[in-house]
Amino acid sequence: MDHQSGAAPSPVIVARADHPVSRSRISGNALKVLYRLRDGGYQAFLVGGCVRDLLIGIQPKDFDIATDASPEEVRRLFRNSRLIGRRFRLAHVRFGPQIIEVATFRASNAPTLDPELDDIAEEDADDSLDENGDINGNVAEPDDPRDLDRVHDDRGRLLRDNVYGTIDQDVWRRDFTCNALYYNIEDFSIWDYVGGVEDIRTRTIRLIGDPETRYREDPVRMLRAVRFEAKLGFTIHESARAPFATLAGLLEHIPPARLLDEFQKLFLAGFGRRSFDLLREHGLLEHLFPATAEHLVAEKDGMALALIRAGLANTDQRVAEGRSVTPMFLFAVMLFGPVSAAAQRRFESGMHPGVAIAEAVDEVVGQQNRRIGIPKRFSIPMRELLALQPRFHRRDGRRALGFLAHPRFRAAYDFLLLRAEAGAEDPEIARWWTEVQTLTPEQQRERVGADSGGGPEPGPGRRRRRRRGGRRHRAQNTEN
Ligand code: ATP
Ligand code: MG
Repeated sequence: MDHQSGAAPSPVIVARADHPVSRSRISGNALKVLYRLRDGGYQAFLVGGCVRDLLIGIQPKDFDIATDASPEEVRRLFRNSRLIGRRFRLAHVRFGPQIIEVATFRASNAPTLDPELDDIAEEDADDSLDENGDINGNVAEPDDPRDLDRVHDDRGRLLRDNVYGTIDQDVWRRDFTCNALYYNIEDFSIWDYVGGVEDIRTRTIRLIGDPETRYREDPVRMLRAVRFEAKLGFTIHESARAPFATLAGLLEHIPPARLLDEFQKLFLAGFGRRSFDLLREHGLLEHLFPATAEHLVAEKDGMALALIRAGLANTDQRVAEGRSVTPMFLFAVMLFGPVSAAAQRRFESGMHPGVAIAEAVDEVVGQQNRRIGIPKRFSIPMRELLALQPRFHRRDGRRALGFLAHPRFRAAYDFLLLRAEAGAEDPEIARWWTEVQTLTPEQQRERVGADSGGGPEPGPGRRRRRRRGGRRHRAQNTEN
């Protein structure tokens, strides 16, 4: 069957006996929702990533449901539900901490965006992005009033679609064949309009429809392809990979808030190390982290690369152990290479090291923030963590003691350890700071010679910090 032609009217139906998806692997709450929809006389399917994961044999992260019931009808069936989404509405049915998402089939002649995108823009509009965060992108409003529900921007990107429909319309808006399978609660069969079952069997990521058109509609699909490649160990089909070479640049027009969301899915979900290598291999990294990608090409010692790989491996490990991870730390890992190079340039032209690093951090983080919107709750501690790194070189007097008590010491120290591990710092320095933390306050004072060093700190730190508020600094912060 040619599933690239895009107009198959009826699905291949794989009967329960012919596929391995068992109800025992499906969340009990998702089953409850499916059964109640069915008993209410509606169609009800599991759809998307969960069907794919069940077929592969991995435990789905969440269970999404598609139905022909309208959002209001879903709302009425479930007291524990609420409708979300400004333009395209869908229902969230809540069971304690678990949310089952129920979306009404969407009609469209062309495929459409993920309904959640509305909500990303909505949520982040309230978040305090750094000064350069541009949330909304360029929306070209339609000329034809009958076209109010479909909005494209001037690059063919589909920004809005708002019409409900049937399952055989719903399928075409989905991105990859492996993400477009429907599990029918009526008879436990799987409906396949696009050859997804076969692509899962051969572990292939293939776009539904014409790849170039689908990437132009939503360039983030390029990142999603890489994410599924990293997460599932699938291979991106040649037809879905070829357009990267010409279309990767379209990622630069994606609102930074959405790229932040995608960044987190790529790097903080347990397969970040692999995502990073694949993004580089596919030439997409330079559109997410331009300064980092450039630095990696130029660097001779491979230290920034080693740091990134160590940081990501570390994060993946934490995820595997169920420990918390923060984007703040990973941004620092990604940006450290270009930050140190920028600081080094300033240092060589005679600037005080403390000022050089502070300015370098401002420059690199400011640029990065125009690409991936870093909320202030991450960027403020990250800037500090980076700017604090040179302070580990000062191991004498009160400054060293004061540093131990600094509110950001712990994060800065973890970062130091990672740099030492990656060969980007003298391991002796890391050892010293590790050991000094095990001492009593008395011993610490002895170790750093604080008593003999005595006296108030000489001015440089303070004087220079004040200088940062000067003309040059302000100019950098307001430029955009
Ligand atoms: P994960 O396991 O990481 O959640 P997923 O496939 O469930 O993977 P989601 O981002 O949760 O991915 O999206 C759910 C489904 O919505 C997808 O399987 C796909 O069918 C559809 N979808 C999501 N984003 C897009 C998009 N940008 N373009 C087209 N379809 C999309
Ligand atoms: Mg999902």
